[in-house]
Amino acid sequence: MTGDENWPGGADSPPELPAELVALIGRTKGFMPAAEGTALTRLAAEAFRIGPVLEIGSYCGKSALYLGAAARIPGDIVFTLDHHRGSEETQPGWEHHDPETVDPATGRIDTLPFLRQTIAEAGFEDVVVPIVGESATVARHWRTPLGMLFVDGGHGAAVASADYDGWAHWVAGGGILAIHDVFPDPADGGQPPYHLWLRALESGAFTEAGREGSLRWLRRTTGRAGDPVV
Ligand code: SAH
Ligand code: MG
Repeated sequence: MTGDENWPGGADSPPELPAELVALIGRTKGFMPAAEGTALTRLAAEAFRIGPVLEIGSYCGKSALYLGAAARIPGDIVFTLDHHRGSEETQPGWEHHDPETVDPATGRIDTLPFLRQTIAEAGFEDVVVPIVGESATVARHWRTPLGMLFVDGGHGAAVASADYDGWAHWVAGGGILAIHDVFPDPADGGQPPYHLWLRALESGAFTEAGREGSLRWLRRTTGRAGDPVV
């Protein structure tokens, strides 16, 4: 899968992105439709006023380009986290598997070389900073308040809820929690991201702030980074 099917081009292309970046996004493998990616750029631009952005689920960097495009000043940083071994649905035999992402030397998925290539081609090496590791492991050592947390990692129930448990409380007051692949109807997709969204709402710490396609975002309206959000 090249992601080209996600890129309508023409009239729907985000006008504020430079043409070369739009072209690079179009040829970057991934799972981020243009309208949702454009929403990410807008959200990141707002979030940078509060703190850095952290994305769970880099894959090959498609969404990271939309987030990085919002950076304006030194210090506007997008951390993008992934163990680069793929999710359940990208393993061989599964719907979203791409054989090109398999390292022939090991037979395992390795999307890190694709991510590095994407970031370098965009000229975003000072903006988009990869973190390579298991989400829960990194979360245990994270201490930095976030302007925005974008959750687009593993979609299994255990992994998704670990992402919430490990990361959601690091959203700063006034910051944004954005969740991808939110499908209230099980016929449209797996439920864990939707349950994560419900959990955020029910915590009382977040208030719904918008939707675009399967992307939903909430604003942290009570407490501050580090305070529990359960
Ligand atoms: N945002 C990407 C798509 C992400 S796909 C885009 O725009 O195209 C989901 C990614 O989450 C996969 O690359 C997978 O390796 C990663 N992932 C899944 N579970 C993870 C975990 N527990 N820790 C770190 N990364 C994980
Ligand atoms: Mg996704």
